[in-house]
Amino acid sequence: MPDILVVATAPDGTLSRSSLELIAGAHAISGPLGLGVTAVLLGTGPGLADAPQALHQHGVARVLRVDHPLLTAGESDAYLRAIEQVARIERPEVVLISADTMGRDLAARLAWRLGAALVTECFELASGDGAVVARRQVYGGRAVATMAVTRRPAVFSMKPRSLDVPAPSPVSGTVEDLAVEMDPGDLPTRVRQVLREQSDVGLEDAQVVIGGGRGMGGPEGFAQLGELASALGGAVGASRPPADSGWVPLSWQVGQTGKTIRPALYVAVGISGATQHVAGVSGSRMIVAINRDPEAPIFSVAHLGIVADFREIVPPLIAKIKELKGL
Ligand SMILES: Cc1cc2nc3c(=O)[nH]c(=O)nc-3n(C[C@H](O)[C@H](O)[C@H](O)COP(=O)(O)OP(=O)(O)OC[C@H]3O[C@@H](n4cnc5c(N)ncnc54)[C@H](O)[C@@H]3O)c2cc1C
Repeated sequence: MPDILVVATAPDGTLSRSSLELIAGAHAISGPLGLGVTAVLLGTGPGLADAPQALHQHGVARVLRVDHPLLTAGESDAYLRAIEQVARIERPEVVLISADTMGRDLAARLAWRLGAALVTECFELASGDGAVVARRQVYGGRAVATMAVTRRPAVFSMKPRSLDVPAPSPVSGTVEDLAVEMDPGDLPTRVRQVLREQSDVGLEDAQVVIGGGRGMGGPEGFAQLGELASALGGAVGASRPPADSGWVPLSWQVGQTGKTIRPALYVAVGISGATQHVAGVSGSRMIVAINRDPEAPIFSVAHLGIVADFREIVPPLIAKIKELKGL
């Protein structure tokens, strides 16, 4: 019987990075609380054959594999059914799930079905006095709540990119194949089409992210940022106003209610630096801000600041990068 169940997903046959991040969370609490760690690996396709190796490599010995054709990208109802069935058999004390797009949909529903306690969007897990101690942002990112959860079972959803993938610590392990009962007709919703908005580099995995804010003035400004991002092999993100205004897809939003990113370089263009935005980018190794207001709060978190209208900076920057890269 597992004590901590890590929900690892591989919708296209490749283990997601956020699944490996969950192992770091499991390791943080398993020793002090005397709990074992098991991963349930869900997905479909030939890639699932190798995915358990990555879990073993990062110290998880026992892997339960559920390979089902309905476990594809976005099919959260299918994932919910599968995880619930596994949890009812395994009866974990703690379930860790990524607060990615699908996990945000799943965590609360799973907790309700299991009669479990729930803390969502955590960025840190620890232990204390027999409790799982989870930290998450509250009040729009202005404060951090520390919650000691004594009730079991408990479900914790972890914000992607808030934990590092643990260093490899290989163990020899087992893989158990589990069958789940699921009929397409039973599912209340089905995904008919998955559209990729940024084809080349995903926002959360990009090493360079160019973020645009309200100061871009409209979708045209984002076309320039797209050009800058592709010259640097990166992706474009946004603050909330451009996403709310429909200048960019909602999935580009970075921050407290958007994605958390930790690129090597984050360039904030026309972004004031509200706490809710900074909450999603503060883990970036280098932050460069371009803003025409010298008093903009973004300059207090930026490593390098350029006080200027972006229209004067971005085009020559693109030209220079292309020249240097011979593009
Ligand atoms: C509960 C809650 C959750 C939230 N979650 C998020 C979140 O996840 N992500 C997020 O981003 N926000 C979030 N917000 C909103 C947040 O509070 C701010 O309103 C938002 O981040 C501001 O976006 P901005 O910096 O693009 O716009 P503004 O604050 O309007 O700043 C625009 C900046 O552009 C500069 N500028 C204007 N024109 C130019 C130009 N031509 N060249 C250069 N600079 C220029 C201006 O000087 C200004 O600093 C949330 C708010 C709440 C209450």
